[in-house]
Amino acid sequence: MILYPTLVLDKTYTPVTIFSHKKAFLLELLNKCEVLEHYERIKLHSPSCEFPAPLVIKIPVLFRHWQSSPTRRALFIRDNFTCAYCGKTVKDNEATVDHLVPKSRGGKWEWENLVTSCSECNQRKGNRTPKEAGMELLFKPKRPSTIQIALNRWKSKFNEEFLRALSTYGIRSINVSIG
Ligand SMILES: [Zn+2]
Repeated sequence: MILYPTLVLDKTYTPVTIFSHKKAFLLELLNKCEVLEHYERIKLHSPSCEFPAPLVIKIPVLFRHWQSSPTRRALFIRDNFTCAYCGKTVKDNEATVDHLVPKSRGGKWEWENLVTSCSECNQRKGNRTPKEAGMELLFKPKRPSTIQIALNRWKSKFNEEFLRALSTYGIRSINVSIG
C-alpha cells in the first residue's frame, strides 16, 4: 500500500510531525484525533466502502520538542545525507558521524556537536576540531524540531495537496535541511 503524508498538529495548531495517512486514519477511528482536512482524491478502502484519507489532523496534546540524544539515522536525516565539510551527498552506508569536539577530548554525543560527514572528510579531520583542521563547516549543527526531521524523512512523498496544507499551517519552505 502506498503511504501518503498526513500533517499532525498539536492542540495549539502547531505542526509537530507527519504520520502516514493510514496511521492517521486509525487514530481517527479510535477517536484519538480530530481531522481538520481530508485529501480530495486519496481514499482508504474497506471491502464495502471508502473513506477520504486524512490530510491534516490535530492531536489533543501539547507537544514538546525532541529532547533525547540523536540516533545516527536521525542525524543523517537532519543533515539531509550531506557531508558538513564538502557538501557531498552520502548514502546511508557511506555516511559517518563526526564529533566537532572529538570524543577523546570530551566532545559529547549531542545534536550540537555532531555532523554528518563523508569518510574522506572524517579521516582528514581526524582527532582535531574543524578549526584546528582548517576545515569549514557548511552549516552549524542544531537540535532539530521533530517537524524538521519528519519533513526531511517524508519529502519524497509530498504531493500538491500536502504542500498546500504545509503552507496553510505556516511551513513555507520545503527546503528544510537545517539553516
Ligand atoms: Zn566530505
